[in-house]
Amino acid sequence: MSKIPESEILPITAGVSDAGRLSIGGCDVRDLVEEYGSPLYIYDEETLRDICRDFVGSFAAEYEQTHIEYSSKAFANPTVSKIVEEEGLDMDVVTGGELAVAIASDFPAERMNFHGNNKGREELTEALQYGIGLITLDSFAEIDLLNDVAGELGVKQEVMLRLSPSIDPHTHLLTSTGILDSKFGFSIETGDAEVAVEQAIAKENLDVVGLHFHLGSPIFDLEPYSEAIDYVLQFAANMRDKYGLELKRFSPGGGFAIGYVSDTLPPAMSDYAKEIAVAIRKGCDAYGLDEPILSVEPGRAIVGRAGVAVYTVGGIKTIPDVRTYVSVDGGMGDNIRPALYESEYAVVPVDRPTATRDQTVTVAGKFCESGDVLARDVDLPPVETGELLALPASGAYCLMMASNYNMQTRPAVVMVKDGESRLIRRRETYRDLLASSLDLA
Ligand SMILES: *Cc1c(COP(=O)(O)O)cnc(C)c1O
Repeated sequence: MSKIPESEILPITAGVSDAGRLSIGGCDVRDLVEEYGSPLYIYDEETLRDICRDFVGSFAAEYEQTHIEYSSKAFANPTVSKIVEEEGLDMDVVTGGELAVAIASDFPAERMNFHGNNKGREELTEALQYGIGLITLDSFAEIDLLNDVAGELGVKQEVMLRLSPSIDPHTHLLTSTGILDSKFGFSIETGDAEVAVEQAIAKENLDVVGLHFHLGSPIFDLEPYSEAIDYVLQFAANMRDKYGLELKRFSPGGGFAIGYVSDTLPPAMSDYAKEIAVAIRKGCDAYGLDEPILSVEPGRAIVGRAGVAVYTVGGIKTIPDVRTYVSVDGGMGDNIRPALYESEYAVVPVDRPTATRDQTVTVAGKFCESGDVLARDVDLPPVETGELLALPASGAYCLMMASNYNMQTRPAVVMVKDGESRLIRRRETYRDLLASSLDLA
């Protein structure tokens, strides 16, 4: 039996079923689509747990005091929350909605961190009432607001400050977050970061425990991490000398890459861990700081590879000497990443994953936008209406950025393991679409 070319970007359990089709977690993908409908997002529990363990193990080997915080905006779901909790991860949220998902799955409050560049009073109140461990502050308005909310609730809240280190992580401009021209974080370069430290330390209801930055995503190069770590640790030492800041906790954010296409694979997790650990030790040594607790915040790298999107082919349009468009029953409504960031995806022909691929086609979605293309110029065997196409590495952000454009319902999501499948999010219905406007009685 020949190998599926995408085996390094598909879930680790991907293989060929007895029927010769793609299987994930011991389940034949066509059987899953027949049971749950199309399009369908399939998450592989073994891959998810294996990656959590890789993070925990890789960082523990390099830097003992590390917390792995799952950035739940990549895929906020109660079942996933439970799994990452069981694997010993902490969790980040960026909105009250993500907090609600965490609360619904009883995620331990003290293991949570609330990020985001514009948190509202209500969201902060909900977070403090839940007893959240950390809040990462992102603006001067937030310093005042949180101090106020914490005062009202009689809480002294532990906080981190999000800094912008003016470092380019060499990824898409729209996913770069630590450069000077970014809405995120207090800039060290402009002097805002220093003012923020001075102000936050002076607030009676805030306890500043550390500093954070997040460069962007996905980051395939390791150097931006060490460059930024050095710069921020130098800043931390400066703030200790000037304002008595004690750096108990430090976070270089997330951004760890995954393979979307087989010829661009990310560094091993142990390489990221080593780069970060070495840079922290070096910086602490150079600037006379005690080694802080480290937290890293992977989102994409935790759930990305575990998820696969499956679509059914409908119309096929060939424009001689130009291009063949293969339309599928999903698209930018469930995965806007290609349209938004020009993200690339591989396409696996579910019904014959190891067949020779001698045609080049463009897989388009069903939404009313010319930019609604999922994968441009991919090689496939001759495609037929009714066959299934799978997009590997669809586990992060796709469904979280999904919309109901064209009043399309969002897909069902199943979790597979050892030949069994379970629905972890049902397909939306027209009733769901109408509920928010018709149920106003
Ligand atoms: C989005 C985000 C992350 C996670 O990024 P990934 O690329 O998914 O790892 C981590 N930290 C912060 C503050 C974020 O906004």
